[in-house]
Amino acid sequence: MPDSFHVMAKPVGPACNLDCTYCYYLEKEHLFPKGGNFRMKPDMLESYIRQYCASQSSPEIVFTWQGGEPTLLGVEYFRSIVDLEKKHAGGRVVHNAVQTNGTLLDNEWCRFFREHNFLVGLSIDGPRTLHDTYRLDKGHKPTFDRVMRGLDLPKSIRSNSTRSPSSAPATSNIRSKSMTSSANPALDTFNSSRWSSACRRPVFRASPNRRNQAGRHPR
Ligand code: SF4
Repeated sequence: MPDSFHVMAKPVGPACNLDCTYCYYLEKEHLFPKGGNFRMKPDMLESYIRQYCASQSSPEIVFTWQGGEPTLLGVEYFRSIVDLEKKHAGGRVVHNAVQTNGTLLDNEWCRFFREHNFLVGLSIDGPRTLHDTYRLDKGHKPTFDRVMRGLDLPKSIRSNSTRSPSSAPATSNIRSKSMTSSANPALDTFNSSRWSSACRRPVFRASPNRRNQAGRHPR
């Protein structure tokens, strides 16, 4: 039986552009030196990828990237991740998954995810009324519309690419996953898209004064 395991990496640490009321992870920045940069440095990134590949004997390797908000790192950073995976995987198949709050996605991100077959998880708390209660930005503004814009991006790119054959469609790598959407017709888009939308937060337990409770995931 080949050795295989799965690690969830957070190459941007607790840095995030949102300030969800239930997030227990943002406060972890106090564990780092003041004014520090949470970005995983290139030598550390390569060391992680090299050791992760070397420790597994399975024919396929799965990387998962989370945050904070991993898209804060920029597309070029993720290109370097893919290059390092190729360098150290020894010809084995590499899969990548990323979890994002969706607010910073743009066409470049969508094309990158498509090109490298990333599985993209989009964090959303359900209908607007629920989502906008807890998932706020740093200015305490709601984020539902920004997330939905990010969700719709791959579809708009696909329609454009139908008109322009040279454009790469940006949807086919993004897996659809079950989402309870009957409460809000807007969420039916999840069922027709190929994104993996995640409703992982226990929204009914969340409240602004519960940040330190254990057992909740910051996505
Ligand atoms: S739950 Fe996720 S998106 Fe929200 S503040 Fe925490 S890390 Fe950012």
